[in-house]
Amino acid sequence: MAKKGMLIVLSGPSGSGKGTIISKLLAQREDTVLSISMTTRAPRPGEIDGVHYYFTSREEFEQMQALGAFLESAEYNGNYYGTPESNVRNWLAEGKNVILEIEVQGAEKVMDYRSDLVSVFITIPSMEELYRRLKGRNTETEETIQKRMAVAKRELQRAFRYDYVVINDEVDLAVERINTIIEAEQMRFARMDEDYIKGVLENAQTE
Ligand code: 5GP
Repeated sequence: MAKKGMLIVLSGPSGSGKGTIISKLLAQREDTVLSISMTTRAPRPGEIDGVHYYFTSREEFEQMQALGAFLESAEYNGNYYGTPESNVRNWLAEGKNVILEIEVQGAEKVMDYRSDLVSVFITIPSMEELYRRLKGRNTETEETIQKRMAVAKRELQRAFRYDYVVINDEVDLAVERINTIIEAEQMRFARMDEDYIKGVLENAQTE
């Protein structure tokens, strides 16, 4: 195996378009999977258990937390969210890149103990553009939009902790930028399988 699986955290405010970016990225990369989180929030119309999230009760979530079943977890907007650890471990062992699409508190926890992590913050070009996108969804009241904008502002102030910042001014460009990050990170010596890279370098020296 040429490379080890890579753990990638993607965060960004609601309305930053990270969901669309991730779907496009996954369609292009067979070597990359998205971790499905567990949450105590109620499913939104169209959301499927086991596809978008594993929906659960607060009791069950707390039990799993006590058992250490999460790689990270956080409370956001009154609900718990957590990344099941065993799935991530198995994918990484198979050599797959695993994307965690998580909010900033959880991301910071993972940054604190995984030095091999690649963290990417997806941002919007401006607050005006964010307003336009949230309004365009036509699903939220003006009050909810204002709340989300305030949360987005706070999240944007934490972006400096991430390795990379990607501006989503145009979805396909943003996907390309993340692809570039993945490709470059995969070429780091530390991420290559030792035997593989030894073989490559020995071959390169044959006359
Ligand atoms: P939503 O309820 O809109 O699906 O998600 C709310 C926020 O929770 C988003 O910023 C999303 O990235 C984040 N989130 C989703 N799953 C997880 C998780 O497993 N852990 C953490 N820390 N955040 C999550």
